[in-house]
Amino acid sequence: MDGIKKEFGRLSKGGFDRYIQDVDEMIELLQKTRDTIDAAPQARREQLMKLKMGTNAWTNKIGQSQKDVHAGISKYGKALDRKFKVDVEMVYNGDVFPESSQALLDKAVAMHLIREGEFEVADRLISEAGLDIARSLEDEFVDMYRILMAMRDRNLQPAVAWAASKRPELSQAGSNLEFDLHRLQFVHYFTAGDGAGTQRALEYARANFGGFGDRYLAEISKLMCGFLYKDNLAASPYTAQFLSPNAWSDVAVAFTKEFCSLLGLSPESPLYVAAVAGAIALPTLLKMGNIMKEKNTEWSSANELPVEIPLPAKFQYHSIFVCPVSKEQTTDENPPMMMPCGHIVAKESLARLSKSNANQRFKCPYCPSESIPTQAIRVYF
Ligand SMILES: [Zn+2]
Repeated sequence: MDGIKKEFGRLSKGGFDRYIQDVDEMIELLQKTRDTIDAAPQARREQLMKLKMGTNAWTNKIGQSQKDVHAGISKYGKALDRKFKVDVEMVYNGDVFPESSQALLDKAVAMHLIREGEFEVADRLISEAGLDIARSLEDEFVDMYRILMAMRDRNLQPAVAWAASKRPELSQAGSNLEFDLHRLQFVHYFTAGDGAGTQRALEYARANFGGFGDRYLAEISKLMCGFLYKDNLAASPYTAQFLSPNAWSDVAVAFTKEFCSLLGLSPESPLYVAAVAGAIALPTLLKMGNIMKEKNTEWSSANELPVEIPLPAKFQYHSIFVCPVSKEQTTDENPPMMMPCGHIVAKESLARLSKSNANQRFKCPYCPSESIPTQAIRVYF
């Protein structure tokens, strides 16, 4: 690994950085000449001559740094090849990303950059690839990062103000965020080392907890009881309320989740999730690729992997349903259907049971109830 790191360091510091610096200086020189000519058009000829003379030296300089970059890339590539002998391309399936989906891929990358707060790079990509992403979305994420940065500096006020402004939406979604923020602020004051902390916490509770009494009375009671154990919280029954080591990061995660959810987006970048899931799947896919190569077989079903790839629970978003009659997993084309008795089978099984006649009475395979296919309704998991 050290060899790779060394080559990468050499490439980024000695190669790319200098190359970019050279190009930036060149752009600056061109802009300066243009501005000088704009300001004094009579000096145009003289300025252009000067530029022309300077340009040769610049071209050589940039040419050299470009050469260094290429040499660096080649050395880095070789270092990678030496370390990773496996041919990852073996499992690449080009059909999944046909050329027509280029814009979608670009959009996924740009959205990821926006969500990561890399606004400058995202803007560049959006304009160069001509992507249709509303500027307002980026502004929302600028706001999100402003609030998160304040949170990192232990300032919860921007987050509290945001949560208060979104109270109806958050409460409709059953979110506890607004109360959690107030609670954290209270605990922050309460556990502060200085003597004024207790007083400040009490004042904060008086000013802010009142409106949450009906829904969070039990929580508020525990927080208030903390005053009884102020000097020995660790030994009190309220340790969990006051001394949670992840309180700040938990609230930051909860805030990010609610913020994205109100924008109609998932809490984590889909591109990140796809890349991580792909990395987890890679060893299995490589093994599969090797076996197929040895046996000289092909992977025939395009949208389905012939092997199970266990992913962590947080990567599983939808429950799947396997028809108890046909033992096949249901799909959009062959969805799960619930009969009036409450039993569920796949649509194709339903058709088979009723002999493809929409008005044919048939018996549920699992109970004595009878029904007709039109009475069955589609089920969404
Ligand atoms: Zn039944």
